[in-house]
Amino acid sequence: MIFPPLPPAAADDAVALLRALLRIDTTNPPGPGGGEGPAAELCAAALREVGIEAEILEAAEGRGNVVARLPGAGAEPPLLLCAHLDVVPAGEGWTRGPFAAEEAGGFLYGRGALDMKNFAAQAVASLRAMKKLEVTPRRDVVFAGVADEEEGCGLGSEFLVDRYPEKVRAAAAWGEIGGFTLHLAGRRFVPIQVAEKGLCWVRLRARGEMGHGSIAPPDNAVVRIGRAVAAVGSAQLPPHRSPPVEQFLRALTRGAGGPARAAGWIGATPGLLRLLLSLAPDGGVRRTMLALLSNTATPTELRGSGKRNVVPAEASLGIDGRLLPGQTRESFVAELREIVGEGIEIEVERFRPPTVTPLPHPMFDLLAGAVRAVDPEAIPIPYVIPGFTDAGSWSRLGAACFGFTPVVLPKGLDFARLYHGVDERIPIAGFRQGLAMLWEALARAAGPLRTGH
Ligand SMILES: [Zn+2]
Repeated sequence: MIFPPLPPAAADDAVALLRALLRIDTTNPPGPGGGEGPAAELCAAALREVGIEAEILEAAEGRGNVVARLPGAGAEPPLLLCAHLDVVPAGEGWTRGPFAAEEAGGFLYGRGALDMKNFAAQAVASLRAMKKLEVTPRRDVVFAGVADEEEGCGLGSEFLVDRYPEKVRAAAAWGEIGGFTLHLAGRRFVPIQVAEKGLCWVRLRARGEMGHGSIAPPDNAVVRIGRAVAAVGSAQLPPHRSPPVEQFLRALTRGAGGPARAAGWIGATPGLLRLLLSLAPDGGVRRTMLALLSNTATPTELRGSGKRNVVPAEASLGIDGRLLPGQTRESFVAELREIVGEGIEIEVERFRPPTVTPLPHPMFDLLAGAVRAVDPEAIPIPYVIPGFTDAGSWSRLGAACFGFTPVVLPKGLDFARLYHGVDERIPIAGFRQGLAMLWEALARAAGPLRTGH
C-alpha cells in the first residue's frame, strides 16, 4: 500500500497555521495574561476540526500543552512529533513586527518562525492531511505542542513525562534541532541532532568568619570565593573524546571534501582540535565547536554579603555547567575540584544528563533518506548541540530523539544567527519543501497499513 503524495492544499494549510501561530505572542517568560495556552488551543482546534482527538494539559494557568494522537493499526510503538510553542523575547531592532507574521521577499517574519512554530505548523498540517486522506498509519503518530522549553521544560515536556507518560511515550521523537540547510564549502548539509550536552548547575560555597567591615576577620569568605571565580573563569576543562561529536565532525569534513576531508580524524583528538580553534578568530562557530570538545563551567551567579559593612559567614558562586555525552555528575565535580582545590564546598543544584541517540540507528538513516529523496544534493549529517531541548525529557521515557524540523534555507541565510535573533524569518518555499521532507519521512516511518482510497 502506498502512502499518498502530499496534497498541495496541505502545504497551504501549513503556511496558514504558521501565520496564525506567529500572531500569538507566546514569549517565555510570559507577561501578564500571556502564555502558550492560545497557541496550544489553536493547534487543538485545527486537529479536532478533522476529527483528531486533542487534549490540553496544563501545569500552570495559561501555560497549555497540546497532545494529540492519530491512532495507528500496527504493533510498532508510537512516533512522537514535538514542537515547543513558547518563544524567547523578541528583543529590539526588528524591521517587522515580531508577532505580525508579515510576509516580505518570500519570507514569513516572526519570533518562532524557525524556533519552532514552523514545526508545530508542519506537524499539525501533516496529521490533518493524513486524517483527511483517511490514512491509517502503521503506528500511532503523536503530536505534542509543549510549553516552557525556553525556560527549562518544567511546565512542558518535563511535566508531560512526569504526569502523563502514557500519552507521550514513544519509540522515537522528532523535534529540535535539525533539518535545516547548512551551507558550507559549496555544499548543502542538513544536520540532524542525535545528541545534546547535559546540564550540571553547581554552587561553590566558601565559609569564613562573619565580622564587621571596619575590622575584617582574616578569613573572609568573599575573598575566598573570589579566588574560585578567577580560577574557574580562567581554566579550560580537559578535552574529552565523545563518539557523537566525532561522528558529526567526520561526516562534516567528509561531506566538505577537498583538504577538509583529510581533517576528519581531528574529531578523535579533541585536544589538537582545540589548539587549532584557539588560533581562529572568535565567533559563534568557534565557540560552539569549543563547547563540543569538553565540559564547560561558566561562572554566572555571585553571592556575598547583602550589606556593605558586613563580612558574611558565607559567599557562593553559581556555575552553569554543561556535560559532554559520556560525562557524569561525578566526573564533572571532580574536574571542578581539581581547579578550586580543597576548602570550597561543591553542591550540585540541578542535573540533567546528556542525551544521546547512538549511531548507527535505522531512524537516522530513514530521516537522511527522506531528506535526500526531496533534495538529492543535500548531505544529511549527525549533529550535536551544546545546549538542550525537549529531547532530554522524551528520552527519559526511552525515545530515540532526532533533531528534524525540516526547512530548506537559501544560501546566505544563517540559521544560527536568526535563531533567537532579530528579524527571525522563514522562506515560505523552503518551509513547503521542509513539509515535503517531513511527509516523506512520515511515509517511511509510519507508512500506512491501509488508506481509505
Ligand atoms: Zn527552540
